[in-house]
Amino acid sequence: MEIEPAEEVKEPPRIHRLDEPVVNRIAAGEVIQRPVSAVKELVENSLDASSTSISVLVKDGGLKLIQVSDDGHGIRYEDLPILCERHTTSKLSKYEDLQSIKSMGFRGEALASMTYVGHVTVTTITRGQLHGYRVSYRDGVMENEPKACAAVKGTQIVIENLFYNMIARRKTLQNSADDYTKIVDLLSRFAIHHIDVSFSCRKHGAARADVHSVATPSRLNAIRSVYGLLVAQNLIKIEASDHDPSSSVFEMDGFISNSNYVAKKTTMVLFINDRLVECTALKRALEVVYVATLPKASKPFIYMSITLPPEHVDVNVHPTKREVSLLNQEVIVEKMQSVVESVLRNSNESRTFQEQTVEATPSVPSVTNNDLHLSPSPSGSKSQRVPVNKIVRTDSSDPAGRMHAYLYKNPQKYLGRDSSLTTVRSSVRQRRNLKETGDLTSIQELINDIDSKCHSDLLDIVRQSTYVGMADDVFALLQHNTHLYLANVVNLSKELMYQQVLRRFAHFNAIQLSEPAPLQELIMLALKEEDLDLESNENDELKKKIAEMNTQLLKQKSEMLEEYFCIFIDSDGNLSRLPILLDQYTPDMDRVPEFVLCLGNDVEWEEEKNCFQSLAAALGNFYAMHPPMLPNPSGKGLEFYRKRKHGKHTQDKGNYSCHVGDGTAEKDEFEHELLSEAETAWAQREWSIQHVLFPSMRLFLKPPNSMASNGTFVRVASLEKLYKIFERC
Ligand code: ADP
Ligand code: MG
Repeated sequence: MEIEPAEEVKEPPRIHRLDEPVVNRIAAGEVIQRPVSAVKELVENSLDASSTSISVLVKDGGLKLIQVSDDGHGIRYEDLPILCERHTTSKLSKYEDLQSIKSMGFRGEALASMTYVGHVTVTTITRGQLHGYRVSYRDGVMENEPKACAAVKGTQIVIENLFYNMIARRKTLQNSADDYTKIVDLLSRFAIHHIDVSFSCRKHGAARADVHSVATPSRLNAIRSVYGLLVAQNLIKIEASDHDPSSSVFEMDGFISNSNYVAKKTTMVLFINDRLVECTALKRALEVVYVATLPKASKPFIYMSITLPPEHVDVNVHPTKREVSLLNQEVIVEKMQSVVESVLRNSNESRTFQEQTVEATPSVPSVTNNDLHLSPSPSGSKSQRVPVNKIVRTDSSDPAGRMHAYLYKNPQKYLGRDSSLTTVRSSVRQRRNLKETGDLTSIQELINDIDSKCHSDLLDIVRQSTYVGMADDVFALLQHNTHLYLANVVNLSKELMYQQVLRRFAHFNAIQLSEPAPLQELIMLALKEEDLDLESNENDELKKKIAEMNTQLLKQKSEMLEEYFCIFIDSDGNLSRLPILLDQYTPDMDRVPEFVLCLGNDVEWEEEKNCFQSLAAALGNFYAMHPPMLPNPSGKGLEFYRKRKHGKHTQDKGNYSCHVGDGTAEKDEFEHELLSEAETAWAQREWSIQHVLFPSMRLFLKPPNSMASNGTFVRVASLEKLYKIFERC
């Protein structure tokens, strides 16, 4: 039997070679993506030609006209015929030269590309010539013989009607008015790096230049003239280098903004081996340092110039050379992070001596910043209205109200002379002790322990994951590559705080309690809390005795506690100062009694290393981001705030809401003050988890091996699988 073909079999399509102009136009579209890319190529050519003055003129966002004039070495007459052919260059002859290339161009593609997407005219004169030449190009070739003309030193290149033959691109660019802004931004960046060159950038027809810099020996002057005084006066110089071939070899210098600088957007001007590049990983990493280090985390201004051995940089990874790839990129990013971090910390200290009073908790979102992303709850719920530190408690016997009697009274008291005296003293002491404490081997051993027990896969998750949100009161949802993890924030924060105590050992800044808190009362509170269920008062005498003994013990240890841990206990047995473990973060003061009791009971005072370790653990537990004591009002916890009904309704004005159920209106009455306090506490905690805990963990946490198996991290899903499931639905 014959089988008839169901359908006519389709012939495979023919492969043929594209015409040269088509190839070139496609390639050109890649190199010259928009007007600003043309300007970048032209300015880089001028810089390669050793110019000392470069001016740019732009019409219609660059689509009508881009003119770049320089005073560089010019182009020889005999090179003009091949100037705009593809792959003609004076900067490279063999592939190996790429490894040590110093010039910005090397592919011989830029000018050629421009002739495929615009009309290019070059006017140039070389040294010693009486006149220059002018010649126009189209599709890589000269349109006419070069004509002699009068010319001033250097080269002027004009591009007209960019993308005249790429209708779609021209249309999209015409609609976006921001290309001139991009060009100004580009020139500003060049101007603060190449300070021996003067730059100007002007819109056609405008009397004033938008960038105008003159050659100066001072980088700060250049920044001032380009970015303005407000930026320049808030900058700190940074410098670092490493010459160890086993880790990384680099030199870096730059300027970074200090804590007075305020901006909504990060400005990161990065030059690697004098090439203006972008490095998203580095930018993100430095933004994280700012968030974690400065009290009011503004977006930074960063100018950074990094010099690496040319063979460590692959400049040939991006068609416009905008991105480069670096050998040891991770190591370098980490080093830059730690340099910036330590510079910021020092500057912060020297500026204010870092006394952070509880009243001025900078991380309270509603008072810090009106930037949207800083707000604690995306819905902008009413919890923002009352910052935690402004809440006045009326009932000191309520379960969370204990410490506030000591904390929130009399906020002005420590802001005066007293405070600056104590801070100066503590900062002098810090400096004096710097050397001695660095020598303590027990601390070094504990830190080495952390390093040696660090789990490398978890470290990767901590550093590279994205915070998605809180899944419940304890677990946060993280995304790492295509996996989702639940991470226990209490465990993580406890460990982070523990490690921070050891790392900052003897160099803490202080949280000042506005009213010294008597240890004895704190311990009593904690003991009573412990056996709340027993409802027995008969042990009161015993509790008093324990409280007295513990107070005595802590008073004896006060010198060491103050010197090494910034826990200040005065001679009357009052606690008045606590250490800052993470900037922007104040622990939950409701946990002070428990902490003080733990100091008395759980710290092993006898042996040095054990003592430091148990003290660090006690502080870690106290500062950890536990769920607030008040139950979470979103969800089941709401019940807690419902007023108990005593027969009849006692109706406070405005203190109820109505639910309509089975036809009868029933009044639900809530303890509104307590409820709003709880909302604030929970929102505050979530804000701290997102903006303080996770950024700091990325920087500092070395997750121990134990976290891989104790439920701190739980992998919940692979996104790939989830997508598959969704696809099937
Ligand atoms: P590349 O910069 O990669 O060499 P281009 O197409 O940008 O390629 O430039 C081709 C050549 O034209 C350069 O190698 C250089 O010799 C010359 N040239 C371009 N612009 C200038 C200029 N402004 N001054 C002097 N020479 C220039
Ligand atoms: Mg070039």
